[in-house]
This record gives sequence, structure tokens and C-alpha cells, in this order.
Amino acid sequence: MPVVAFRDGEFSPLSEMTVGIETTALHYGTNVFEGIRAYWNEDIEELYVFRAQDHFKRLHASASIYGMSLPYTVDELCAITRDLLTRNEVREGVYIRPILFKSDASIVCWNEGLKDSFVIYDKPFKMFSGGLKCCVSLWRQVDGNAAPVRAKVGGMYAARALARHEALMLGYDEAIMLTSEGKVAEGTGENLFLIEDGKLIAPSAGEDLLAGITRASVIELASELGMEVVERSVNRGELYVADELFMCGTGAEVTPVTAVDGRNVGDGEIGPLTTAMRELYLDVVHGRKDAHMKWLFPVYGRVQ
Ligand code: PMP
Repeated sequence: MPVVAFRDGEFSPLSEMTVGIETTALHYGTNVFEGIRAYWNEDIEELYVFRAQDHFKRLHASASIYGMSLPYTVDELCAITRDLLTRNEVREGVYIRPILFKSDASIVCWNEGLKDSFVIYDKPFKMFSGGLKCCVSLWRQVDGNAAPVRAKVGGMYAARALARHEALMLGYDEAIMLTSEGKVAEGTGENLFLIEDGKLIAPSAGEDLLAGITRASVIELASELGMEVVERSVNRGELYVADELFMCGTGAEVTPVTAVDGRNVGDGEIGPLTTAMRELYLDVVHGRKDAHMKWLFPVYGRVQ
């Protein structure tokens, strides 16, 4: 059975879903999207979508910032997701990509009359383990007055791809971006946390960064590990003296950073609090923590 995807009200094989070369979004990055994950719990044979409602709320916010029209409510988007994953008989961890894009052909970057198309599809996605060696990018985060950093819009990722490319060319795994004011912002697709004297320090959501759903989850989970959370501005130099550092995001989950700009973080090994947070997070997303079942959307409707 071919893997299907949803487009503008209908399911059809993903492999047959195409866009024309003149599609406006392809030229100008005019799309808003989300990255969502679903986790397979082998013990009870259930697939859990993590914080689906929050992701779809953010998609609505991004669409509204860009004046795009998303003709489904958050609940309808959850139902479409369940339908998609059920039709594809998903029994493994997957990444879910909803995308709303300017789908008409146009040579000008914005026309009020341009049609928006909505697609959602899923892909198998493996977990990443190990530590990242990062550099601080020479490319700055796009200033919030140049473009709204809160919106998850395709065009913004061209700047992030540049920073990621720079990191990879220099032999690092990932880039850390500073704001235009020189404060620590985030990774190219992840938020960043520092650990100092047992405290969790997060670059403030008031900086120009995408304050992620995983970041919010980690902040809520910190108290379970007895960690105080401080949200504030962070200077580059603090990255070099933190006891532990980690990145987090839907794709990255909780991923340790073991070196920055060639300097070891702590002793260069994955730290104990990062390990504890990673384990707790993975338990939560797989539905192994009763207290956090509210974050999970069961696809097959089995109750524990
Ligand atoms: N920052 C950026 C730039 C991202 O692309 C992402 C991934 N969506 C994140 C942070 C983390 O966000 P979330 O935890 O919601 O996936």
C-alpha cells in the first residue's frame, strides 16, 4: 500500500504529490510549517503524537502573521493527523510535516489573490544519540524587526541553513546563533539550555528566538529533576564555562552539546543532568509518565 499524504481535503500517494516549478512558495519561501513527532510505544502498541495541539496552534499563529489562510481548526488538524497516521498504519516513530504554502504560480512575491495549499505527510524518523560539537556562527539570527522570529516560516530557514552550512564546512555538527545584539539565541533548528551549578539557564524567550514547544516542555520537566529554571540573556562567553549544555527541539529531542568553538563543555563528556533530562523526556514522549499524558495524542485510541 503506498504511503499517503493529505492535500487540500484529499488523501493521495505521497510519491505522486508534486508542485509546479512556478509555485510562488518555491521562489520566495512563502510557507509556514511545523515539525511534529509521533512516538511508538511497543508495550501497549500505541502511537503518541507529542503536543499536537500546541504545534497546530503555532501553525495557526504563523499563518496569521503572514496573512495566510488555514481552513482547519486545531481539532480538525489533529483529526486529519490521526487519519493520516492510521491510513499509513504507522507503527514506528515518525516525523509529521504540515505545510501551508503559496501554491499559485506568480512572478511577484506576494499577491493578495494567491491561493494557499495545505499538505501534511509523515516520514520515519530515527532518534539521534551522542554529543554535538558546535560553533558560534558568524551569521546572526535574523533580527525580530526584520522578520517575525516567532513565525515558523520557510524563508527564515535560508538564513539558518547558511549558519548550519558554515558549521558543517568547518567540521562542526551544528551552529549556535547569536542575536543581532550579540546574545545567545538558539541552534539552527533547536533551542539551547545551559546548566550551571545545577540550575537550568535558558536564553530568554524575549530574545529573537523561536521559543519551542520542547523548550517549554523541558522547563516544565525541570522541577521533577529538582532543577531551578532561570530565563535570561546569555552571553557567548558563558557557553565556554557552563557545566553542561544541551539543545532541544522536536527533531533534536534533548541532545547534549559536548564542545563549543573547540572548547570542551565540562569535561567533554555527556553530563548527568542532561542525561537525566533526556531520559525523562523520552519517557514522557513515549507515554511512560502518567503525569504528562495530557501532552500526548493517542492515534489508535488505546487507553493505558
Ligand atoms: N528553534 C528553531 C529555529 C527551530 O526550527 C525549532 C524546531 N521547530 C526549534 C527552535 C525548536 O522548536 P520545537 O521544540 O517546537 O520543535
